[in-house]
Parts: sequence; structure tokens; C-alpha cells
Amino acid sequence: MLQISKLNAWYGASHALQDVSLEVSKGEIVCLIGRNGAGKTTTLKSIMGLMGRARGSVTFKGEELLRQPAHVRFALGLAYVPEERRIVQGLTVRENLRLGLVASKEKKREAELIDEIAAIFPRLAERMDQEAVTMSGGEQQMLAIARAMIAKPDLIMLDEPSEGIMPVLVDEMFELFRSMKAQGTTVLLVEQNVELALGIAERAYVLDHGAVVHQASAQALLADDEIKERYCSV
Ligand code: ATP
Repeated sequence: MLQISKLNAWYGASHALQDVSLEVSKGEIVCLIGRNGAGKTTTLKSIMGLMGRARGSVTFKGEELLRQPAHVRFALGLAYVPEERRIVQGLTVRENLRLGLVASKEKKREAELIDEIAAIFPRLAERMDQEAVTMSGGEQQMLAIARAMIAKPDLIMLDEPSEGIMPVLVDEMFELFRSMKAQGTTVLLVEQNVELALGIAERAYVLDHGAVVHQASAQALLADDEIKERYCSV
């Protein structure tokens, strides 16, 4: 579904990604792991079209995306939930969810889609008319994920979804990822909590200094203490 080949990206003169190649098949959960600064966020941003300078190839459902702007990638079925969530202040939970449909061809079905997403995220269903930024960090993260899911993307990229969230909500969130997968959504996940992430993923790529240094099945990586110690913050 997603194929990245020899992807390079720069911040000014700094060469942040160097020949990154990876692929994600339909229905998989694939995890990107590596220490702080390894290039995980930059990889997701490059896939979504948010890096000023990127070279190489990013194909999604057979289409080359590298020259396409982010809104075209969104329309093709890619979604990205950045680490910083971007919940809009002054808007309720429902209004934030509506923002997820602004550029979507599903917009006419807004009320129905909000009901559907509320059924998947009961914590949000109870808080639809609450100002979103008054919720806990974990609930806001759920909202950011729900807002990306409401337009029914084929592939969702999540950057550190468990960051700063209390354990009970993290468990709930990971259960949710399993059910997203069961419903056919493909997931590319960046996660510091390597054990947890590998517990739900099929495969993983390890990044270091902007390059892929290892790839393996999640099961093999879970058992590989040497790689985990060398490249991951565990
Ligand atoms: P983290 O978990 O800390 O976010 P990461 O693996 O996601 O780590 P990236 O954020 O992709 O890493 O960063 C890759 C490299 O690019 C790092 O050396 C980082 O300092 C640099 N970098 C990231 N964002 C910028 C930016 N806006 N301007 C300049 N350099 C940046």
C-alpha cells in the first residue's frame, strides 16, 4: 500500500533522512523505532508532504506522491496525527471532529460519521459539547486520533500517541489500534514504548541517524535485546 524508496529529507543544510526505504502492506501495523532524533517524525512528515525538501520516492496505492501537496495525500487516504495533537482551542469536541471532515468528500455524511466515531470512542461521546482543551492529555490524544479517523483514511500515521498519557488510557488506546486494524485500517506507528508497540505490530523498522539500520518482524525484535539496547530508548 505504501512504498518508500531512497527517501532523503533536509532541514536547511542538515540532511535528516538518508536513503530511507520501507513499505507497509494493507492491513498491517508497522512500527518505526529508534532513539530521539533518529528521524522517525521526519519520516512521517515526509510521507505526509510536510517537509520542505525531500527526494526519493513515496508511492501510496500505486501513485507517486513526492511532488504532491499534503491535501492531495490526505484526499488519497493518508492521515497523520502529529505528536503535538493540534486540538483547537475554543472549540468543542464535536467541532474539532468536524474539522477532520472539512476537506473530505464524506463531509455530507458529517452527522452520521460523528455518531460512528462516538461509538468507537466512548470517552469522547460523553464529552461532545465540552471545550476540547479542558480534557485530559490522554482524552485530547484520543480526539486527535478520532479526528484523523473520521474521514476513514486507508493508512493512518501516529507519532508517539502514548506520550505523556496515563497508563490506563494508553491500554485503551492500544486496544483501539487493534480494533482499527480489525476494521481494515493500516497503521504506521512511531512509539517510544517499544514493548507495547511491538506487541501489536507485525513488523518494525529501526532508524538511527536518519537511516534504516534494521528491520524485522515484531516478534523477532521483541526477543532481540541487543538491537533494542543499542537503538531504542528502553
Ligand atoms: P523524537 O522522538 O525526538 O521526535 P525522531 O526520531 O522523531 O525523534 P526527528 O524529529 O525526525 O527525530 O529528527 C531527526 C533529526 O532532524 C534530528 O537531528 C533533529 O534534531 C532534526 N530536526 C528535527 N526537526 C527539525 C527542525 N524543525 N529544524 C532543524 N532540524 C530538525
